[in-house]
Amino acid sequence: MNKDYYNILGVNKNAPKEEIKKAFYKLAHKYHPDKKEGNEAKFKQVNEAYQTLSDDDKRAKYDQFGPTNMDGGHAGHQQGGFGGFDFSNFSGGFQDGSANFDFGNLNDIFSDFFTGGMGEGRKEARRGRDISTEVQISFSDSIFGINRKILITKTSNCLTCNGSGARAGSKVETCKHCNGQGKIRESKRTIFGNVASTKICDTCLGTGEVPKELCEKCKGKGVLRREEEISITIPAGIRDGEMIRMTGHGEAISKGTAGDLYIKINVAPHALFKREGNDLVMNLNLKLSDALLGTEYPIQTLDGEIKVTIPEGVTINEILRVRGKGVPVSKNKRGDLLIKLNIKLPSKISRTSRALIEELKKEGI
Ligand SMILES: [Zn+2]
Ligand SMILES: [Zn+2]
Repeated sequence: MNKDYYNILGVNKNAPKEEIKKAFYKLAHKYHPDKKEGNEAKFKQVNEAYQTLSDDDKRAKYDQFGPTNMDGGHAGHQQGGFGGFDFSNFSGGFQDGSANFDFGNLNDIFSDFFTGGMGEGRKEARRGRDISTEVQISFSDSIFGINRKILITKTSNCLTCNGSGARAGSKVETCKHCNGQGKIRESKRTIFGNVASTKICDTCLGTGEVPKELCEKCKGKGVLRREEEISITIPAGIRDGEMIRMTGHGEAISKGTAGDLYIKINVAPHALFKREGNDLVMNLNLKLSDALLGTEYPIQTLDGEIKVTIPEGVTINEILRVRGKGVPVSKNKRGDLLIKLNIKLPSKISRTSRALIEELKKEGI
């Protein structure tokens, strides 16, 4: 394969950028596969050459190392079926006055062509927008899960016509705009000349038929903006910031698939409990005497009150584990509740206490 980029573009080694650009346009125009004498291989070659020579860095490397040593021999090649066409050079616009091209459609034209769909039009599915919202839940609800209902104002299916856009009992007739074809051929002017393409008919949206009488509520669109109540099942053990995706609950679109709804769950912090993995952690202040002698403490857990046995002689920061009172992991399995012990030392002591502690001191405690 000819890898002499200067040769491909027909310019000499010292050609200024402007000349390279002009040469590229001329050749790209000539070889565009849609043209009568088009040549896809040459078109790609021209494009690859331009990719390198229009970029100062790449050109300098190319001049120094030649085509075979550049970037492992894949000069200017990007992923995708089409060898590195730099669209940014087009949408950036040229100030050379010669350009009256339809830049906005270039991407369409290329993707049409390179997906083999040139002249056939792409059968892209119409899809409504994805939308997102946030829901705040309590810490306890995040552990055990909850069902919540929210109201969202969005484009939804029209309930009067069930999305058909037709008045009840109306007959369906052939779309006059596209003669029932569902698509319309059109010719676009581009830098490569007139390029034929087809697009979906925007009257019937590709179905080829329209209702004779339109639904009054949605004016035949089948969708309209309204408030919709949505039921969300928030699973047990959800974490703060986690996202729930509800397929098809985004915005509806005429004759297409609705987008998705993303719900971000914000979990309010709890005064006592923190979550660590599937365990819940809490702090418990013990009296010095209880720490030394051991006792039973009533503790409010998320499941209600339980009694916890404090063994004698516990130390500060010791952790008691209550099995199965943490975050649900599966139907029959839960994490644990970890109770971190703190021993509260008295800041003031009575005369009696002092005397008793003096006794302890004699005991070596
Ligand atoms: Zn309707
Ligand atoms: Zn139509």
